[in-house]
Amino acid sequence: MCLYRFALTTLLLVSVLLSGCNGMIASAASPATDISTETPTHHPTLTNTATLPPTATLTLTPTLTPQPTMTPTWVMQGPGKVVCPILLYHHFGPASSPAASIYYTALEDFDAQLKALRKWGYTSISISQLVEALMYGAPLPSRPVVITFDDGNLDVYSEAFPIMQKYGFTGVVYIIANSLHADGYMSVDMLKVLISAGWEVGSHSMTHPDLRLNHDRLNFEIAQSRIILQDALGVPVRSFAYPYGGMDPLVSKQVQSYGYTSAVGLGTLWNQSVYNLYYLSRRPVPGGVDLQVFASYLPWSGATPTPAQVLP
Ligand SMILES: [Zn+2]
Repeated sequence: MCLYRFALTTLLLVSVLLSGCNGMIASAASPATDISTETPTHHPTLTNTATLPPTATLTLTPTLTPQPTMTPTWVMQGPGKVVCPILLYHHFGPASSPAASIYYTALEDFDAQLKALRKWGYTSISISQLVEALMYGAPLPSRPVVITFDDGNLDVYSEAFPIMQKYGFTGVVYIIANSLHADGYMSVDMLKVLISAGWEVGSHSMTHPDLRLNHDRLNFEIAQSRIILQDALGVPVRSFAYPYGGMDPLVSKQVQSYGYTSAVGLGTLWNQSVYNLYYLSRRPVPGGVDLQVFASYLPWSGATPTPAQVLP
């Protein structure tokens, strides 16, 4: 699997060198092979983001905190490698919640973690901003972080979003497309509020299966979910999160073929690489961790930057 990713991403990098940045996007958005022979044909074929509905149809909420804007402290980073932790959360609730588990973060813990991130000088960026820096080089804050939330649980909107707003952070939500109208999950209107506040929305498949065990459903789970989310939200959906972090060479290939420019997995690295665009390393933050453990997930804590972790 690693050899495949290395070969795949090396091929992509060579494409960049040979044909320039636009060539990279074209190669990522176009199937390398005839995928119609490998996947069911009863679902619409994804073309590219050029067919997206205009974003002007979004209803903006003017009172929300705007997306962070570039400041003079942003510096050019990438291409190739960028030091940027990607954090992963799922559920939020009171510390005494009976459902408390590694997937539930107590609100007071989340508040303390975001307060620490702010104190340590972190600025949140979108996954697309990170990908742009990895592919082409782009200005980023000196201490960037991507804060992600999987599954689209309602408590992300009702509980985590206000705390994110309080500290001026924006996030990335990976949504299960079939859950858009389900109880306990964020609605389209809620997601539009997040988007208007500067958040990014990615796909977390249609039904959240382990894709390694469902190769006959890859078109449905990966391509159809993107179409549905883009149609419902009126914005590009560029990033994919593998359910359970499960990926194999065919799954990764299909995610790329269906037009996504990145995918996130699970991992402990904060060094992100163009060689891992389809399995960016993302650190789950389990419920119950104290600030000392939380700091160990990050390349910088305290006032003085520490040397960046070196890629193995
Ligand atoms: Zn999930």
